[in-house]
Amino acid sequence: MKKYWSPVFLLFVFEAVAISCWLATDNIFYLFNFSYIGCSVALGVFLFIKKYKNARRVTQLLVGLYMLIYLGFIGNENMQIEGFWYYLFTGVFEAATIHYAVAKIFGPLIFGRGWCGFACWTAMVLDFLPYKTPNQPRKRIGWIRYITFAASFIFVTLLFLVGATHMEQIMFWAFLIGNIAYYLVGIILAYVFKDNRAFCKYVCPVTVILKPMSYFSLRRIKCDKNKCIDCGRCKQVCPMGVDITNNARKNATECILCFECIKNCPKGALH
Ligand code: SF4
Ligand code: SF4
Ligand code: SF4
Repeated sequence: MKKYWSPVFLLFVFEAVAISCWLATDNIFYLFNFSYIGCSVALGVFLFIKKYKNARRVTQLLVGLYMLIYLGFIGNENMQIEGFWYYLFTGVFEAATIHYAVAKIFGPLIFGRGWCGFACWTAMVLDFLPYKTPNQPRKRIGWIRYITFAASFIFVTLLFLVGATHMEQIMFWAFLIGNIAYYLVGIILAYVFKDNRAFCKYVCPVTVILKPMSYFSLRRIKCDKNKCIDCGRCKQVCPMGVDITNNARKNATECILCFECIKNCPKGALH
């Protein structure tokens, strides 16, 4: 039974968030929202424990499609980083601010970049592309993420400075256009670098927040040095090019907790 501790713990964390947000905002939507996400994440982890090979993809589709289509396109919520700045500047603790607080700022202290492995709707599409395991070393162009991060901040700041009207509509169009741009750039980069996760490694502005928070993550993949035979298989299959065998805390800033290394380790040295 001990092996089922992870999904139960995750379910408990998301239920705590669901109830807290519901009570804090007096909006029952948050109870349903985070309960749904918690169940989806716990289901994915449970299926992984049961050795179902598409376990992570199930959660990615359940959460990613829900957030992109239901919250984004139908609910008119800009859940991208521009939406976060927008709600932050307006002082509204709702939608994107809550999403960022849970998935990308405080959540990573517990589950690292689990968002990137299990829930992101951009990666949900990128992970269908053919280059699941990059065979080239990482490029030194990670600085691009700081430009996209600054651009998103400047864009929303300018809207406030010029006193733009119809801000909600602008943010909806920003969400639409932003997503199309992310998918286009992500797909092009995947083919150029032969690496599905090139966008995540070099361009995604969210990683500017995710990486430092994940450094302190409670949940990290650890390597039992007594079992490891240095075969290198874990690094070969890692979509993020992480050498997880050295147990360095900085690995958590790149690791997306996709569990591919655990699945492929011949000695069961990773957990
Ligand atoms: S790095 Fe960005 S695009 Fe990639 S999975 Fe994480 S949040 Fe999504
Ligand atoms: S796959 Fe397992 S045994 Fe091989 S290097 Fe990685 S941790 Fe060690
Ligand atoms: S280190 Fe393992 S869990 Fe982390 S991204 Fe690489 S393969 Fe996935």
